[in-house]
Amino acid sequence: MNWMQRMMMGRYGGDQMGIGILILSMVINFVPFWPARIVSILLLAWAVFRMFSRNIARRRMENEKFLRVWYPVKNFFVRLFKRRPDAKTHKHFRCPKCRQELRVPRGKGKIVITCPKCGTKMTKRT
Ligand SMILES: [Zn+2]
Repeated sequence: MNWMQRMMMGRYGGDQMGIGILILSMVINFVPFWPARIVSILLLAWAVFRMFSRNIARRRMENEKFLRVWYPVKNFFVRLFKRRPDAKTHKHFRCPKCRQELRVPRGKGKIVITCPKCGTKMTKRT
């Protein structure tokens, strides 16, 4: 076992939240306003503290909370990106009742869309 492995024994290590804090720290570091530098260093210190923490249960809980916030944000952007290839031929709506995403072809004028999930009807211009 090398010294690095020995040092990390019983410690938490990295997780998604740690990576998130590191990225945030790097981004804030580029803000041309001096208090940002301090915030950046504090975030970096926090990320390092979490990595070397021995309170693994607590760090795991933090990461779970972080993921609960992060996944919806990530999915929002993934969805935006995924939508682009057919943006010219199709239009997207969200069912007002059940939030189901609906895709309809463009250029059909005003049409009545029926949600396949809950049957709600809505009139939209495509
Ligand atoms: Zn619906």
